[in-house]
Amino acid sequence: MTAKLIHGYEVVIGFETHTQLATQSKIFSRAATAFGAEPNTQACAVDLALPGTLPVMNREAVACAIKLGLALGSHIAEKSIFARKNYFYPDLPKGYQISQFEIPVVQGGEVSFFLGDEKKTVRLVRAHLEEDAGKSLHEDFIGQSGIDLNRAGTPLLEIVTEPDMSSSEEAVAYAKELHKIVTWIGICDGNMQEGSFRCDANVSVRKPGQPLGTRREIKNLNSFKFMQQAIDYEIRWQIEQIEDGHAIQQATVLFDPDTGETRAMRTKEDAADYRYFPDPDLPPLHISERWIEEQRAQMAELPRAMAARFVADYGLPEYDANTLTQSQSMASYFEDAVKLAGPKEQEKPLAKMVANWMMGELSATLNSRGLDITQSPIGPGLLGMHVHYVFNQKVSNPKALFKALLEAEFQSFDNLVEQIDALVKAKDLTPMNDSGALEKIIDEVIAANADNVAQFRAGKDKAFNALVGQIMKASKGKANPTQVNELLRAKLAG
Ligand code: ADP
Ligand code: MG
Repeated sequence: MTAKLIHGYEVVIGFETHTQLATQSKIFSRAATAFGAEPNTQACAVDLALPGTLPVMNREAVACAIKLGLALGSHIAEKSIFARKNYFYPDLPKGYQISQFEIPVVQGGEVSFFLGDEKKTVRLVRAHLEEDAGKSLHEDFIGQSGIDLNRAGTPLLEIVTEPDMSSSEEAVAYAKELHKIVTWIGICDGNMQEGSFRCDANVSVRKPGQPLGTRREIKNLNSFKFMQQAIDYEIRWQIEQIEDGHAIQQATVLFDPDTGETRAMRTKEDAADYRYFPDPDLPPLHISERWIEEQRAQMAELPRAMAARFVADYGLPEYDANTLTQSQSMASYFEDAVKLAGPKEQEKPLAKMVANWMMGELSATLNSRGLDITQSPIGPGLLGMHVHYVFNQKVSNPKALFKALLEAEFQSFDNLVEQIDALVKAKDLTPMNDSGALEKIIDEVIAANADNVAQFRAGKDKAFNALVGQIMKASKGKANPTQVNELLRAKLAG
């Protein structure tokens, strides 16, 4: 597989993602992590780095790391080490950030996803536990800046990939897949506006066959749309620079959504600049096999495993299985609908039909109304019933029934079958299943179209289709096309 070239250049992208862990309290203190509190109301003595305070590891944050490692097929280190990353910034009261450096808790692993119908796998280097910093607030109207330390000490897992991605589309697809996984396993709320899932994209370009180019790191991409725009801009910019004879300087850059451009914020520090060393206040983190097994037992089925099961058990195409496991609510909607659509023996064709309606008509309806699946006006039970009617040919026009169900306001779901039967009748959607009535129509059409009949007998297939069309029309679309075909062929042969 060859990478896509842009003006003769190959693109190389690696991601560092900060996921904020959904714990009640901070990583090394008991202060709350809730979003949106008054500034500095959730920063305790430890977060403020008052002298004499000591960090105490939050067990829940470690459990999140274990879950992530299990979900991504990583090695979970039996022993990992916390290190101090030293730098000065107003929002960092200790003068260092507690992070992991040489021995992170999660090592290796991978994330697989589909880009169109091509399967991609991005290898992970590591994921390490660390604390977040505070936030500077610039109050322009009084010409002052303040510091809010509520976020200081919030637990993060920084997830680092190998430079395995080769286009902005692939990078965005990776980020979406990772976002799906961390929210699915419940370690992160995934709220990108609130900064719970922040991506840094490392981007470089090179001529094919050359060693890796110098990268620039785009910081804090907090929407998938900006991520795509920022990376595309950065690729174009780097190629232009090189074509103009300038070398790329390693740098950290910010994306400005207003101009659509990236601009350098600082030249990039090297690890040596941070003077990392093991934090003497924290003992090594030990994770027992038993703790890992406890977490494994508690974990819900993962999206990848669930998609594989949908293929094996329901016979769904891989693409459908992947689409239907975009979220847990989507997946359980699907399985509930299939159960209600009919008996286990017919499960496979019913499942494909449910999948088609979910990915087609239902998803179009939800999109146009700005709703997600949990807000669907047609719940899984009703969609299951709909598929039951369509599958068993109890309705002449499936789309019209779907529309009727959307508009119907069922007072209760008791007697649902009677209610839908009444709806089918009221909307004139009863199919013509009575072959006596159909035979009468066919006889009439044959009698009235002698020339078509003659042409068919002379070997022209088109004439047969014309007759079928006439019959469908005469039945007002209610005849079953398969039945029409069979009966007509029999009559013409006779
Ligand atoms: P640092 O420690 O300076 O942040 P790392 O070696 O940890 O650097 O790499 C950070 C990220 O940058 C990783 O995701 C890695 O895959 C990616 N990366 C490294 N080199 C390149 C490159 N030449 N082009 C694009 N991405 C790169
Ligand atoms: Mg790094």
